[in-house]
Amino acid sequence: MTAVLHVPAFKDNYIWLIRGHAGDGVAIVDPGEAAPVRAALARLRLTAVAILCTHHHGDHVGGIAELVDDNPVPVYGPAREAIPAVTHPVGEGDEVPLPSLGLQLRVIDIPGHTAGHIAYHGGGILFCGDTLFSAGCGRLFEGTAEQMCRSLQRLAALPDDTEVFCGHEYTEENLRFALAVEPENVEARQYREAVIALRQRNRPSLPSTIAREKSVNPFLRCSVPGVHAAAETFARRQLASECEAFAAVRRWKDGFKG
Ligand code: ZN
Ligand code: FE
Repeated sequence: MTAVLHVPAFKDNYIWLIRGHAGDGVAIVDPGEAAPVRAALARLRLTAVAILCTHHHGDHVGGIAELVDDNPVPVYGPAREAIPAVTHPVGEGDEVPLPSLGLQLRVIDIPGHTAGHIAYHGGGILFCGDTLFSAGCGRLFEGTAEQMCRSLQRLAALPDDTEVFCGHEYTEENLRFALAVEPENVEARQYREAVIALRQRNRPSLPSTIAREKSVNPFLRCSVPGVHAAAETFARRQLASECEAFAAVRRWKDGFKG
């Protein structure tokens, strides 16, 4: 069984360390800074075997150069983005073999937050960077709402029990918006209580699961009649499709002050 350790970075980023069933090797996902990763590797006596990044933003790639200075491991990253430290550019359907971890991940193209954003999925775990957050999704910096909507639909189609490792601890804040969209969503209310309790103990709210996200995340629920209707109320017009509703909910969240 694969274990995934979290390394907090900056204000609310998570750098993930994927650990195999045996040995001291780890794959490092989205190291935005090197220092906390170096400290965690030293403290736990772990060795990097690969670095994986999901998109080009500095809070996800900023630590790569220093980490490969320490240990020149393969660096996987999106083929459609210019990230200088990437040695293995990958895109849709490409495999990332991590034999020393007993794991193989497959790349999914999920544009929207950035134009070339990718996810890594395999062995029941998903690393989705800043595309899918628990109870939320990334802002549209480079892609269109239609692209992001399709990307989220692809992630939602993964098996229900897939563990979801996101790039940021935004869950509690996202749930305030989720409950503004769906005040009657009992699962979202219960989840919010559980997340508040975890955060009070300084524990991550992640990983989530695809099943949970389908029941609490408004951005995955734009085809649910109540969410669609809320989106139409916000947009003050009829919305013809799930992705039009998604676009409205995304704009709603952009201006949401809670
Ligand atoms: Zn980002
Ligand atoms: Fe980020």
